[in-house]
Amino acid sequence: MYNTKAYSAVSATSPLASDTIARRDPTEHDVQIEILFCGICHSDLHSVRNEWSDFMSTTYPIVPGHEIVGQVTQVGTAVTKFKTGDRVGVGCMVDSDDTCPNCKAGLEQFCQNVTFTYNSPDKHKTAPVTYGGYSNSIVVDQRFVLRVPPNLDLAGVAPLLCAGITTYSPLRHWGVTEGKKVGVVGLGGLGHMGVKLAHAMGAHVVVFTTSPDKKEDALRLGADEVVVSRNSDEMQKHAGSFDFILDTVSAKHDINAYLNLLKLDGNITLVGAPEKPLEVAAFSLIMGRRNLSGSNIGGIAETQEMLDFCGEHNITADVEVIPIQKVNEAYERLLKSDVKYRFSIDMASLKSE
Ligand code: NAP
Ligand code: ZN
Repeated sequence: MYNTKAYSAVSATSPLASDTIARRDPTEHDVQIEILFCGICHSDLHSVRNEWSDFMSTTYPIVPGHEIVGQVTQVGTAVTKFKTGDRVGVGCMVDSDDTCPNCKAGLEQFCQNVTFTYNSPDKHKTAPVTYGGYSNSIVVDQRFVLRVPPNLDLAGVAPLLCAGITTYSPLRHWGVTEGKKVGVVGLGGLGHMGVKLAHAMGAHVVVFTTSPDKKEDALRLGADEVVVSRNSDEMQKHAGSFDFILDTVSAKHDINAYLNLLKLDGNITLVGAPEKPLEVAAFSLIMGRRNLSGSNIGGIAETQEMLDFCGEHNITADVEVIPIQKVNEAYERLLKSDVKYRFSIDMASLKSE
């Protein structure tokens, strides 16, 4: 075992603060990575503040962070996919049983024994739970390490590891292609990636935002139209017209307003995970045989496919790079929808702590 610096929270009401954590020495299948950037996902905030306690309780201390990019510093003797110096990424998962039908199908995110990057029991017993990417170094089984395309800027690649795959996977699953009318609800970290990806897939993209000042940006990011969702007349114009809507909203909101915008057999997928349940009116589904579904990140093979797709289309996240010392301030800004459009932590800032 060795020590590395990290930022952790010790309770649901504590700020994140400097800490030292233990990591295991790389075993034969492991890759040791120096973390260069880590994105801030709204899930980090939900987890730190234990907002998902009904579903998955947080164990403290928590070291969040699952949008990790960095450079390989050491590999185990059986590692074939990577070598020292490679630019790599790690997303929301670091292990799974590799034997169940979901793992066999490349859907590790639905494995009953999946190990998430933070707040999952640590199989290696280095600590009670896994610790995430707000840290200088991490050790991960090579199966869960991704190749980063050489042409992409690392600070902007970090968010692809969660926001990128979480939007890419349902867009692909529900057949978003040229000619489809696609809505993206909420222009935050996930939403802005959804816009870029759906646009690159050839869809007609409509952004729904509560922030009128994000209109120009939405168009620049690839939207064909922007609707300020608090304006019911603007919403009504799109009634019954969407093939697919991706809902990335992090807080309670009226899902029925969006269900009513779907056409016959249209689908709305929730990726946003608000703390409190959403109310669904039966008639919103019945009229138009509409579908309401959800999606959880994406499998490892699909994450690599997404990264390669981003490499080909020159897609990265629009990031505001911050030092780790600004992380608590960044969380407050997330709650005010004040991020354009993802915070990416420059981990060099942690070395001086
Ligand atoms: P984010 O950057 O904070 O973006 C959320 C956006 O939702 C905001 O920018 C805002 O967009 C909109 N919004 C916020 N509060 C709202 C409200 N009260 N009513 C209506 N709209 C509101 O968050 P994120 O990192 O993209 O994450 C979004 C959600 O996805 C979180 O709940 C996160 O936990 C979840 N998530 C799920 C998965 C998964 O696998 N399913 C993966 C990652 C994240 P506008 O300003 O444009 O309105
Ligand atoms: Zn995330």
